[in-house]
Formats: sequence, structure tokens, C-alpha cells
Amino acid sequence: MLNLRRTLTKTLPFLRLTSLPQNLFLPFSTPFCTKPQVPRPEPLDQKYNRREVEDLLKRKFFLAQSFEIYGGVAGLYDFGPLGAGLKNEVEQMWRRHFVLEEDMLEVSCSTLTPEEVLRTSGHVEKFEDFMVKDVVSGQCYRADKILEDHIDKVLQKRGTKMEEEEVERLQKIRAQADSFDRNEIAEILKELKVKAPDTGNPISDPVPFNLMFSTQIGPSGSSKGYFRPETAQSIFVNFKRLLEFNNGRLPFASAQIGLGFRNEISPRAGLLRVREFTMAEIEHFCDPLNKNHHKFSLVKDKTLPLLSKERQLILEDPTTDLTVGEAVEQGIINNQTLAYFMTRTFLFFEKCGIPRSAIRFRQHLDTEMAHYASDCWDAEIETSYGWIEIVGHADRSCYDLESHSKHTNTELLGSRLLESPIEVSTTYILPDKRKLGRALKSDCKLLCDYLDSLSEEQKQIIHKQYDQAENEFEIDIGSKKITVSKDTIEIKIDKKMSMEEKFAPHVIEPSFGIGRLCHCIFEHCYHKREQDEARKYFKFPITIAPIKVSILPLISNCEEHNTFVLKLKSDLNSLGISSKIDESSQTIGRRYSRADECGIPFAITIDNETVIESVVTLREIQSTSQVSIPISKVVDTVKDLCEGRLSWENIIDTYPSFRND
Ligand code: AMP
Repeated sequence: MLNLRRTLTKTLPFLRLTSLPQNLFLPFSTPFCTKPQVPRPEPLDQKYNRREVEDLLKRKFFLAQSFEIYGGVAGLYDFGPLGAGLKNEVEQMWRRHFVLEEDMLEVSCSTLTPEEVLRTSGHVEKFEDFMVKDVVSGQCYRADKILEDHIDKVLQKRGTKMEEEEVERLQKIRAQADSFDRNEIAEILKELKVKAPDTGNPISDPVPFNLMFSTQIGPSGSSKGYFRPETAQSIFVNFKRLLEFNNGRLPFASAQIGLGFRNEISPRAGLLRVREFTMAEIEHFCDPLNKNHHKFSLVKDKTLPLLSKERQLILEDPTTDLTVGEAVEQGIINNQTLAYFMTRTFLFFEKCGIPRSAIRFRQHLDTEMAHYASDCWDAEIETSYGWIEIVGHADRSCYDLESHSKHTNTELLGSRLLESPIEVSTTYILPDKRKLGRALKSDCKLLCDYLDSLSEEQKQIIHKQYDQAENEFEIDIGSKKITVSKDTIEIKIDKKMSMEEKFAPHVIEPSFGIGRLCHCIFEHCYHKREQDEARKYFKFPITIAPIKVSILPLISNCEEHNTFVLKLKSDLNSLGISSKIDESSQTIGRRYSRADECGIPFAITIDNETVIESVVTLREIQSTSQVSIPISKVVDTVKDLCEGRLSWENIIDTYPSFRND
């Protein structure tokens, strides 16, 4: 979604410091979290084993900083085989959960975007953050982030010795750090004597910094473009085709998974704030008079942890006992479609292995929301860095379609059937081409083409100008203004009764950051064995595990064993089950540990019994329990386990246990 970051506070009243709650408390270790939070007993980086997870991800090449051997580039990450495997599975699950189950129209559009498109959407002018510079070293910082960090440090160091009122005031400033305008943040940075965090040097005044990466499209250098900062715009500009594809019917949703690029001023926290990231966005187009969802009855009795704007301001925890149906009825969530998608997001998070207790939906405060949006809820997950927005759910009204429609003179409208007919007038602007040609010469064609492309609304505006003019009037065709004499144009109105009415569709948008979600999956699926903390493992939900089976031959360089191993691997491949052979000379316990660290849920061990009795052992990651199972059954069994038709308990009940390692 176009956040229009700093614009928001310019279009909406500034949230007065005095309007925030008296006892606002923010924990000190939550760099992204600008909203009120309840203090937690255990520091989050320890609760989620941040360092250990990071080490493991690096060691097993789930992830690495891009261009590492050249020193790396901040905010750019490469996914290694395991990370890419997991990310692909998450994207596939997202496709099944949303695109397939909700009958969405998936598209895959260009990432390079002409400047004009992003100017129309508002990104060229306003997609920016405030930046300050270390005046000596030139190092750049995001103004709101260094303000937050500064306040955290002050409170940590001197909080207990400060007057209660002063502490409260600092906490209130911190809570709003990302919604101050340029002058406000400049004043506060000055007043609090904020210095460059790395050097202690003075900092410059904040300046707006546009987050888009610009480029030239084509060799001439005349066509400026940008790497898209979100995938949404490419869906909006294809609206007409999508509507036609859907046989002109609304509502419908289009979805896209693809890269977004943002030149973040200070990227940090691993995958959480990067400069290039995969987004999965849905644009649901609907009639503004009917935002109900046809599948709402399926979710209406579910409960979601809802942190409404009112509850944030009185420092309450999220409500957990309100059904989604009640939340819509009571007007807490604006409409059924928004609530439906929030619930689907919640279910998706659960499928990704995120516990309910670490999920909440935080409503945007009025100062945070774009001026055209009517309601926004961020799906947040608790991480070692605090609560982080993973998915934005926004009701964007008709803002984008209207902007693109106006700018390109393209009708981007839907239509609704009416119960009783209404009178519809159609305006025809009929140029007298002979007269116009004589008067305008080469401009005649430009004007005629322009008049042909106009929407009904635009024709009505010209009609009004025509009526008000005495002899001549000006038509602005975009590239120039053309003066037209009234006697070269005729305007006719055709009125007829219609059972159909046109309107600009509204858009409800869930926007996922896949990298952020992967970060949460890593932190929430990381475990240590109770009996031996040095033994770590990722317990990924089977569907998203990057590799499903580890194949472990106990005897290497043995022809008979090799035959079994290769046959097993090929049978698993043919069913689409990913596997990895570990034929190293390490002990079996060591190899199990290695598979555990990679988050491989099952291991099949081939030993002498396999050759003699055609049985293998099958082991499950979390329980570490093993069963003996005929080799003829193992592949189908693993397939059933991967697809959820069998549970590990079923396997334990069916086959003799082997031993626990
Ligand atoms: P937004 O359009 O700003 O609402 O962003 C949509 C989603 O993209 C967010 O909910 C995040 O999950 C993700 N996202 C935004 N900015 C970044 C970033 N710099 N790095 C990683 N993910 C991001």
C-alpha cells in the first residue's frame, strides 16, 4: 500500500502530544515499535534467542548478506538453498490459501515502472522518510529512528532519576516519532540534543528523502523510471483488462507475488527492513455500497486479537473474545471484506507456525492512515525486535483507480444492476472536422483524439465550459491548451432509462511482506532440545519445510545400499517430495542433528535391515522417535504425512518403534 509516509500528517490533524495517555509505557528494546506496549518480563531478544537463530541461519546458509565477499551491502540479503526453499514453500502456500481458495486473478507484472505512473499514484512526490546526516562523517540516519533510539537510551540511563512527567513526555514523543512533520521533528531533535548515534557528532536538520530507486528506461536517457516500491500499482493500471477477464463482474480480487524496492535510509534487523523484498499483495475490487463478503459466514464466529485505536490510546491489550462478526456489527472493523481478509491472514499465520499468542491486529491511529483510507489494520507478529507489521490491511477507497483514470482518460469503472431503472444521460461531443481542421491545422487531430478518449464525467465538464463560453473556450488536452470556437463543435445529450449504474470501485488491500514473515517463522520455529540445549532444531510446519526428508545411508560405498538410496530418492522425487542424501561418515546421531538444524521434518535411515528385510527407519524431528517401516510403504507414508492425511501419532500407532536417539 502507498503509505505516503510523511504526507499523512500533512493531510490530517497532528495528534497532539496531550491527546496521548498519561501512563504511556514503551519497552526499550523495540526499535520498530512506536505504539504503546505492555512491558514484558523477559527481554525479547532472549525470549526469541535472536543471536542463536541468526548464527544458525548464517551457518546453514538459510541467509547471507548479499555480496558478502565484497564486504556486503546493507539492506540486501541472499536466500541460500534452505532459505529459498522455505520462502518458495511459503509463497506456494500463500497461492493455495488466497489465490486458489479465493478464486483470485494472479498476475505477474513489470517491476520497472515509468515515472508518470508513480507520479499519478503520489509516490514521486510523497513516498519519503526524513533523513538526518552526521555533519562530520556524512553518515545518514532516519530521523524518527534516531529519535526513538535516543529516547530509549535516555530513559534506560536516567529514567529512574527523572521526574515522572518528563519520562511521560519522552514516551509520548517516542510513540509518535514517525508521524511528526518536518518542522516538528527538527524542533524535537534540537530540543533533545540528539547526536549521531555512532560518533556523537552533531546532526543536520531533517530533509525528506524519497525511498524509490530511480533509473532510466531505454538508452536515450529521456524516459525516467523507478523500480516499483509496491506491486499494487501494476494491478490498478491493469484494472480494465482484469474486469473484462472477469466478464465485467465485481467484486473480484487480483493478486501478485513479486519484488518491491525501497531505498531505506537505515536498513536493519535482518530481513525486517531491507531494500529489496518480496511482497504478496491482493487488491480486492468491490462496490462501495456493498462491502459484504460472500464467504463472511465462514469466518464470522472466529475471534481475533484486535488492538483497536481506542484500546491503544487507553493502553489496553487487544480484545480476544470478540467474534469477527461482532467486530463488524459494532463498527470496530469497517466492513465484512476487510474483516474476512484479516481472518484469512490469521489462519495463514497459523499455517506458518506462528502461535496465536504472538499475533495481533493493530488498527491505524487516525494520524497514521492515508487521507483516502477508511480503515487500516496491520497484522503484527511479536519478534525479538518487538511487534512488527507483517501484513497491512487497508480499505483504500477508490483513490488509485480514480487517479489513474483521470490521468490517462481511461474509464476505470464497475457497474451495478439496479432494482428500478434510472435516467442516464450520455454526452456526445461532435467536432466539425472540416471547420476545425481549417482553424487548428495539425492540432485538429490531437483535439479529436482527445475528445474521443474522454469519460462521461470529463465530457460533462467540457459541456459546462461550452455552455458558459460566449464564442470561444479553452480545452486542456494535457500536452497543451487549445482554443476552440463554439461553432466548430456540437454537443448532444442522449437520455435513456437504464437498469445499470457505473461507479468507481473501492479497493481493499492485504499487503504481505514475505521476507518479514520468513523472519518470524525462523524465530517462532526455533527450538532447543530439553535434555541438551546445544541441540537446536527448526520445527517448521511440514508444508513449508524447505526439505521434507533426509536420507541417511548407514553404510557408504556399498553397491546394495546405494541402489536402495537412489531408488528411494527417485520415488520421493516422483511424488514431488524434496529430499537430501547425507552420506557423510559422521555418526547417525550427528547426522540427525544436522538434519534438525536444517528443519528437515523426517529422516529415513537405510541400514543392513533394509537389505535383508526391506525395512527402513523413519524418524520425526520433534519427538525424535523412530519406527521401522517397510521400504515399500515409506514413500507413500511420507507423502501422507507431508499432506496432512496422517499424523506422526498415526505412524507410532501403526508401526513398531525403533529407538529414541
Ligand atoms: P507497506 O506498503 O509499507 O504497507 O508495506 C507492505 C508490507 O511490506 C509490510 O507489511 C511489510 O511486511 C513489508 N515491508 C515494507 N517495507 C519493508 C522493508 N523495508 N523490508 C522488508 N519488508 C517490508
